Amino acid sequence: MSRVEPSSPTIHTQDQFLSVVTREKAIARWDAALPPGPLGEETVPLAAAAGRVLSRDVAALLDVPPFDRALVDGFALRAADISGATAAAPVRLALNGERIQCGTAPTLTVAPDTATEIATGGPVPRGADAVVMIEHTDPDPSGGILLRRPVGPGQGIGFAGGDIALGETLLRQGAVIGSRKISMLAAAGIGTVSVRKRPKVAVLSTGDELVQPGEALRPAAIYDSNGPMVTAAVAENGGEAVALGAVRDDEAELASALEKAHAECDMVILSAGTSKGAGDITYRLVARLGAPGVVVHGVALKPGKPLCLAVADGKPVVVLPGFPTSAMFTFHDFVAPVIRRMAGLPERREGQVEAVVQVRVPSELGRAEFVMVSLLPGPEGLVAHPVGKGSGSVTAFAQADGYVRIDALADSLPAGAPVRVTLLEGAARAPDLAIIGSHCLGLEAVIGALARQGLAVRCVPVGSMGGLAALKRGECDFAPLHLLDPARGVYNEPFLSEGMVLAPGWRRMQGVVYRPGDARFAGKDAGAAVTAALADPGCLMVNRNQGAGTRIVIDGLLRGARPDGYWNQPRSHNAVAAAVAQGRADWGVAVEPAARAYGLAFIPLTEEHYDFAFAEAARDRAAVAAFLAALANPDVRSAIVALGFTPSPTVTGG
Ligand code: AMP
Ligand code: MG
Repeated sequence: MSRVEPSSPTIHTQDQFLSVVTREKAIARWDAALPPGPLGEETVPLAAAAGRVLSRDVAALLDVPPFDRALVDGFALRAADISGATAAAPVRLALNGERIQCGTAPTLTVAPDTATEIATGGPVPRGADAVVMIEHTDPDPSGGILLRRPVGPGQGIGFAGGDIALGETLLRQGAVIGSRKISMLAAAGIGTVSVRKRPKVAVLSTGDELVQPGEALRPAAIYDSNGPMVTAAVAENGGEAVALGAVRDDEAELASALEKAHAECDMVILSAGTSKGAGDITYRLVARLGAPGVVVHGVALKPGKPLCLAVADGKPVVVLPGFPTSAMFTFHDFVAPVIRRMAGLPERREGQVEAVVQVRVPSELGRAEFVMVSLLPGPEGLVAHPVGKGSGSVTAFAQADGYVRIDALADSLPAGAPVRVTLLEGAARAPDLAIIGSHCLGLEAVIGALARQGLAVRCVPVGSMGGLAALKRGECDFAPLHLLDPARGVYNEPFLSEGMVLAPGWRRMQGVVYRPGDARFAGKDAGAAVTAALADPGCLMVNRNQGAGTRIVIDGLLRGARPDGYWNQPRSHNAVAAAVAQGRADWGVAVEPAARAYGLAFIPLTEEHYDFAFAEAARDRAAVAAFLAALANPDVRSAIVALGFTPSPTVTGG
């Protein structure tokens, strides 16, 4: 089949070889004939993954850092020991008999009034809750060190999981891998990644007049600019271009080049030889390549009318119009989306800006017209200046900032008309939804569901209070929080400002965590376990930071006691679990999934409520509504359960 069905609506019947259809009809036919979805996937070593598209989500298999580590060269000590240190009355600490280097596990506990020398990156020893820089200490002539100022607990320590928390989704499928992402995956111990196969795209120019750039130009010849343009644009859209140069308008030569390209590649892009003319053999050869053959030949576009779209044995074959501007527009409008889909890349979201045209722009009725514009600031915002030099121009594209589309049914854009300008270089995609606040592993289930709907979610973990402040400033859509008002025994709701409402999230069981088999805790309830811990002076706890909901629970258990380890105050459940699992402490309070991840025993205590504050006024915004719907979605709720949490009853907050 070399032409579209005679029954299809034609707009320009005078075209001898073309059966012109609308842009929308052309896209529909092309899509119907194309194989859906991306090509397969393959596994590549991390170091070779730059530029590739992830085919699966990647989760962290461990906490990063994997242990509490020193952030400075100096001494690991107990902050309480030096709380009274001054220049006039320095405190002396004895040195323990080991020096902790990077890569050496500590063997000695830091007992009161002692310190252990430690290098940046070394694991913090049991008993210590701060690391003081060597520059802030003086050697004591009698051995040991002198400290002339106090230090806050936690200072100089990077807590386990402070960078990446175990189980956290590091990257989602569809993400494009670059050096910064490779660094993160390497730190999490990931050596290979599953990526989409890259479509191999043959790029072939046709025309007796074409000479490759860099070679000498013959009389009457021009340089092949479409070939290099398409080659680069294929790579920009996730394909692997196979640049085949130009072939002459010779039937046998072209047929053999085309057949070879079709056999060896996943897609073939030709340019020129598609409009009516004696030498235009390209589309006839394309039609013979395989079924179903040519599905569109002629689209009501300006520029770009002679576009030819075919599918041969499951592989897309395209003949772009010869004129460079036409080739460029039709490539981006029709071909780039197909390459992206084959490569597993999301649709390109072109950046758009509002502008006005200051002069009337005439347009042909019946064809969707693309007009390239330069943008300049005017008295009332941006002004779009048409820069069209005709479809034979190559400079217009390179110099324009964007383009305006004039509808097929309009005969002009009047002077002063407001227009939407699609920016040519695209713009960094702003997230659809911003979440700032306390991070919880369960959030992965909700964000994962939104990502599958194509929503881009940006999540910034800053803690409950930081999130509420960001929401108040209008910087995010949701602020996840878990704050207990101890006076009322109520979670979250007392902390909302005017205009904020709460979407219920889920409950997290908190409890005492300890190493399995520790006889001080096994078989006891939480109260009895903590009583046993307090009775043993060798038993070391790990606390939580001031302001954490869990800290209030711990203070309730301790009833005023300040056992050893009280000043070790990491900021996350994972860091608490890591400290206990690694023997830095013997017990602490964390949520059940963290205990489970570190193989710890767990004595349940109370449920913490993790909810989402948002602005009531934003409830109907599409992305906000999608998030609220995801919270109520049964699949998301069972994913939350699988992660170890209990979804809260859904009520419509307000
Ligand atoms: P055609 O479709 O072969 O009639 O070509 C239409 C116009 O595009 C002619 O002026 C060609 O010289 C020009 N053209 C075709 N191919 C290329 C190319 N690869 N690079 C630059 N111009 C081209
Ligand atoms: Mg030609």
